[in-house]
Amino acid sequence: TVKTSTFHTSPGTTHKKSTAISPRLAGRNRQPIALISVHGDPDVDIGREEAGGQNVYVRQVGEALAKLGWQVDMFTRKIHPDQPTIVQHSPHCRTIRLTAGPLEYIPRDELFEYLPEFVTAFQKFQAKEGTNYPLVHTNYWLSAWVGLQLKKHHNVQLIHTYHSLGQVKYQAVSNRPRIAETRLTIEQQILEQSNTVIATSPQEEEVLRHTVSQKGHISVIPCGTNLENFHVISKPEARLKLGLDPHEPIILYVGRFDLRKGIETLVRACHQYQMTQNEPFKLIIAGGSDPNKSDGQERQRIETIINELGLTEQTYFPGQLSHDILPLYYAAADVCVVPSHYEPFGLVAIEAMACGTPVIASNVGGLKFTVIPEETGLLVSPQDINGFADAINRILTDDIWTQKLRKQASVRVSENFSWSGVAIRLSDLYRRILAESIMDERLLPVSRSVISSEVAAISATATT
Ligand code: UDP
Repeated sequence: TVKTSTFHTSPGTTHKKSTAISPRLAGRNRQPIALISVHGDPDVDIGREEAGGQNVYVRQVGEALAKLGWQVDMFTRKIHPDQPTIVQHSPHCRTIRLTAGPLEYIPRDELFEYLPEFVTAFQKFQAKEGTNYPLVHTNYWLSAWVGLQLKKHHNVQLIHTYHSLGQVKYQAVSNRPRIAETRLTIEQQILEQSNTVIATSPQEEEVLRHTVSQKGHISVIPCGTNLENFHVISKPEARLKLGLDPHEPIILYVGRFDLRKGIETLVRACHQYQMTQNEPFKLIIAGGSDPNKSDGQERQRIETIINELGLTEQTYFPGQLSHDILPLYYAAADVCVVPSHYEPFGLVAIEAMACGTPVIASNVGGLKFTVIPEETGLLVSPQDINGFADAINRILTDDIWTQKLRKQASVRVSENFSWSGVAIRLSDLYRRILAESIMDERLLPVSRSVISSEVAAISATATT
């Protein structure tokens, strides 16, 4: 008997009677899979320091995969004694918080030393539950290290999403953190040793090939957005609900306070727009911050620039906004600006477009993929203050064109970037990888052609 042949190759179907899967889960007839996000808790408030796109991705993908028939366990690090160890989001999707290091927030650049403890806690959890996860999807390089350790000791299929890339990040940083070399090594190893890494845009794929490694598999599957939440709402209605002026042009930024996000460029571009056009406007900068953390320092820096430029009156900081209220802000705005120096994908751009708001974004990374210039918004070189000011001017002054942009923006997102669509593509990939792993395990005793037809049959059943 070959142990790995006990995998379910389809999420809701048991292919062979399993000995590797706990009776509890086998009873539910679901294939358990683990999503690992050491520093990005899928169950926290989004929009604060270190809680952004990755948390949204893991949570949304996890919930959508559970709807497709998988048993999804999302593992993260516990950072406070009061946090529940297990949070059940839906019948087959939960967040599991493992203890690794002190129960307190630790910046991600200082987390590496606690990862062996995370691996041990993960293994203990598996043993306690009597579960083996045959497929592990890791997120960010810290989790990649965890995944690589698991692969050494267990027969796991490994999939990875980067969310951010050291090779790109360190280009823009004058003093690299001490952990930089380790990070770069792990990012290369995960590409070369995992079953596949996920690039969230063709641009990310290109960067991975050019800067990380020529070896290894890359599958391009974009990020998504929740179309039930982010959808078109009329501008007057949104403004009325938020108590905003019905006529004043609104320029919106949504995201974390982080140097990489380029908020300074936006603020300076707004000043430039004011100096050249002398038109009224409101600048809304949404995102959470804590005065004692790095996002609080960045917000303070931005506020100082705003004061120096005389934009205090026009600027409004609503703080961290939940996904319940964010669609109203997007809909109320005339334009949403994403001025990042670099952005692997950039969820904010597709959220805004889903709500029918044109986007002006930096011509970088995933934003080049999601924003179609002149059709759903405009692209500008990063840090190009004049370029952003001109783009803002164009969008705020051409009503007929912006009506067209609004419509095309929402269509682009609904056709290409729904979380349910992303989950279907991931689910197909998982299924194929699990099927191939069965085939590889059986190569010796049985001829490949026999197994190929068996796997083809499994895949065909699984897709129906
Ligand atoms: N976000 C939020 N509330 C805020 C600010 C941001 O919910 O006040 C969310 C935003 O809606 C998006 C995520 O945080 O879903 C940011 O993801 P993105 O990919 O744009 O940037 P990242 O944080 O990953 O760098």
